[in-house]
Formats: sequence, structure tokens, C-alpha cells
Amino acid sequence: MERLNPSGLLTLDFGDLAACGDRVVAFAAATPLDAVLGVDERTAVAAAAIAARLGLPHPSVAAVAAAGNKAVMRERLAQAGVASPRHRLFSRMADPRVAGRGVGYPCVLKPTFLAASRGVIRADDASQFVAAWERIARILAEPAVAKRGGAAAAEILVEDFVAGEEVALEGLLTGGELRVLALFDKPDPLDGPFFEETIYVTPSRHAAAVQRGCADATAAAARALGLREGPIHAELRVDGPRVCVIEIAARSIGGLCSRTLRFGMGMSLEELILRHALGREIPGAEREAAAAGVMMIPIPGAGILQEVGGLDAARAVPGIEEVTISARVGSRLVPLPEGDRYLGFIFSRAATPERAEAALREAHARLEFRI
Ligand code: ADP
Ligand code: CA
Repeated sequence: MERLNPSGLLTLDFGDLAACGDRVVAFAAATPLDAVLGVDERTAVAAAAIAARLGLPHPSVAAVAAAGNKAVMRERLAQAGVASPRHRLFSRMADPRVAGRGVGYPCVLKPTFLAASRGVIRADDASQFVAAWERIARILAEPAVAKRGGAAAAEILVEDFVAGEEVALEGLLTGGELRVLALFDKPDPLDGPFFEETIYVTPSRHAAAVQRGCADATAAAARALGLREGPIHAELRVDGPRVCVIEIAARSIGGLCSRTLRFGMGMSLEELILRHALGREIPGAEREAAAAGVMMIPIPGAGILQEVGGLDAARAVPGIEEVTISARVGSRLVPLPEGDRYLGFIFSRAATPERAEAALREAHARLEFRI
């Protein structure tokens, strides 16, 4: 593809940051660049490194890399005293029967560098621990995963399971100051054993004090990692007045979920992030008054997707703005914990978060997936 549009496309190996920098510096000699942005955890590291080489404003490469490794992140949060689950890091070559005797239950086992809850598994006792470990070890041994993870593919992180309701905070850092762009509730319980994302609804229905607690914990987590510029996406658990940081990533919300957000006079999250990267004004960056929601449509079972029915009926539900099926008919569906995709996305907008959520559930109930 690069040859078809040489001034618009550049192919980079994100695993080799020095080579990325060399190639982009050569490219920028003929095609000047004003900003470099990542679109996910991995490209965020490459983007920061490339921007550094070009002399453009950028978040700290070390901070972005720290956020991209869950073991390093946990270590930094613990050192800074940010509320975050207790953790232990193991080599996947260790004996899980021995490892499982030294941890508390319930716990959560996970790879340190994957996303979309891939390989994240809860264990309630030593036998579940061994089963979860072996399942994660198999994922880490897949050639593509092993290549991408490098040394991190040899690690399994074990954390205390944190009970509570989960929220996601979408934010933008400027000079170390956190601006909260949106706080999403995740109204479906995420208690495991696998942690499939489904519904996100904003604004949050949590009390103002809890929402402030989430913003404070996210800001503290960003400081602990040294993140000072750019988009961040944090996940937190709320249990009564207590707030605990599950994760902070140096990127914006994933998939198509950003479509739920509109700021000021209809500005998208992407425009806001581009404006920030270019050092431009961000006028009226308040999120619109309406409530909005998205459902990442879960994969109900393994197999080949044969047919999707009920799309028109789902789209006809009041408050539904869009139903997008991203899995292709004929493709193989892999559920969690091995899979890393959704079937698609449902978007809603309504006067209240309750209605935005109800519309998503109603639309989802009208969809039929033949697998
Ligand atoms: P990923 O990068 O794949 O999203 P996370 O560490 O964020 O990995 O885990 C995915 C989900 O699993 C979280 O959003 C949360 O619901 C659940 N989870 C992960 N760690 C814990 C934990 N220690 N306690 C409770 N739930 C957890
Ligand atoms: Ca996460």
C-alpha cells in the first residue's frame, strides 16, 4: 500500500523504535510533520519516541512505556502510594502449583502487555489458579503474541481481585494537569472469571464525591508514571467511598467507543486530541449535555459467524444511533479469554444515562447471531 501513496503512508516496525525514528526523520525531510499520535498502547510508545526524534512536543517515552506494561505500572503505583491491587510477578516457566500457594484468593492472573481483557482470568482457589495459569501460558506461547511481547511474554502478573463497580475515565493531560473529558459507568458486573467489556454509559451515576475520587486517583496514577501530556484512559473500581486504580493507559478509549463523545459544538474526541497535540486552543471542551452509551457486543460462543439478524429492529429502538457489526460473516469468532475482538458496537444517546443504557439492552436483545 505504501507504494500507492508514498507521501501519505509509511510502514514502520513498532518493535524497533530506533528504526522507526530513522525512517520517519527521513520521511519528514520531504513531508514535514507537525505531530505524531498513537492509536493504541503499542503505537503510543512508538509515537512518543518518533516525536522525540523529530523534536516535536511529546509525552515521556519512558512514562508511556511504563503505562504499557502492567507489572511496571503496578510497581510505580505501589511506590507512589496510589490505591491499586497488591500484585506479584511470576515467570511463566515457574510451577503454578507452587506459585498458587503463595498468593491470596480471589486473585486475577493476566499477561502484562495485552489488551481488551485478553488472558485476564480470575481464580478463586489453587486449582483454578493452575488452570488459569496454563491457559494464559498457552496464549503467551502463540508465535504472534510471543514476538510482540518479547521479554514480557515470559511473565504472568497476579493481583488481588478488587471487588466493586467499574468505571472508565477518559482524560487529557496538559502540562501535567488532568482534564476529565468523560467518566463512564460500566453497569454490567465484571466479576469474572473472564472480564468481557459490554456497556459504557456517560455521564456517571456515581455521587459527585466518588467521581472526584476517580479523577484524583487517575491524576495521582498519571503522576506516578510520569505521564504529563496527551490522552489517557483509566479504569477504576469503586467500592463505597473507596476507589482503586485497575489500569491507566496512555491512549484514548479503544475501538469505535469514542463515537459516544461529542464536545462543545460537536467536536469529536479525535479532534480534541489533535488540537492538543498541535498545541492549539481547545475551546469549550465540555461534553454535550445528553447521556450517551456504547455496547461492545460480546461474542456469545466460538465458531464461524453465519448470519446477523434483527439489525433493522435493533436500529429502530428509540435512542439508538447506530449498530455496527465489525465481525465479518464467514469469519471465525473466538470468545474470551483467548479472543480480542467484539462482534460490533451499539451506540445510544438519550436524555438520561438510564435511558441510554436501556436502549442498548433493548437493541442488543433484538439482534440474533447465528454462529
Ligand atoms: P486489559 O488491558 O486487557 O484491559 P486489565 O488489567 O485492564 O487488562 O483487565 C481487564 C478487566 O479485568 C478490567 O477492566 C477489570 O474489569 C478486570 N480486572 C483486571 N484486574 C483486576 C483486579 N485486580 N481486580 C478486579 N478486576 C480486575
Ligand atoms: Ca483495561
